[in-house]
Amino acid sequence: MISLKFWNIKSAIPLLLILALNSTLLIAQQNKKEWGPQPVVVQPGKNGKAPSDAIVLFDGGNLDNFVSVLTGGEAKWKVSGNKFTVVPGTKAIRTKQGFGDCQLHIEWKTPQSDSREGKTGQQNGNSGIYFMSKYEIQVLNSYKNETKPKGQAGAFYGNFPPLVNASLPPGEWQTYDIIFKAPKFNKDEELVEPGSFTVFHNGVLVQNHVPITKPTAAHNREFPLTEQELPLMLQDHKNEVSYRNIWIRKL
Ligand code: MG
Repeated sequence: MISLKFWNIKSAIPLLLILALNSTLLIAQQNKKEWGPQPVVVQPGKNGKAPSDAIVLFDGGNLDNFVSVLTGGEAKWKVSGNKFTVVPGTKAIRTKQGFGDCQLHIEWKTPQSDSREGKTGQQNGNSGIYFMSKYEIQVLNSYKNETKPKGQAGAFYGNFPPLVNASLPPGEWQTYDIIFKAPKFNKDEELVEPGSFTVFHNGVLVQNHVPITKPTAAHNREFPLTEQELPLMLQDHKNEVSYRNIWIRKL
């Protein structure tokens, strides 16, 4: 028979404690392995400002991140303070940098002058945000200004109307938060895999993962469909629409 004297058990206590601690650490390490890698830490922005990993395209100052689509040179839209405004007739502007799958935050405002001048439908506060210069989320005054639903604010133009009309009146700043997944085309420009749009207008869901299978009619044809990343384009539709606080995260 094995028998332990009292003094033997007492002297084994530190060893037992170390063994217990070690096995706890081993279990914790094993659990962490099973969790997989930790997500990257991002510092969120306050009041709609850019989070720490976003590319800021405009936050006041200048249009250095954009060029004119017409000339390829300086973007000729008017910057004042923390916003810029379409100069009708100068044509669209686009980012210098290309983007594919992304999250975009953009704020926009349509002019009150269009309503005063009696402009209605597609002529009132029209602009647009073309992802990859090809897929348009419509910008329009859609506050008490009826038009074709697939062409109102929050529409994936010509494809899907917004789920609801979350528009604010002209002259008020509005927000879009947009998740874009690019469609994939083969070398013959045939669709291989549809993309998708998810859009929040003033915080309200207006496009819920709708498919993208083809470009919007007025897309920029200088770029082939086969590209993975292309510039973000803002439309000049001859209305003095303003933009501010634009940031983008590549996904
Ligand atoms: Mg438009």
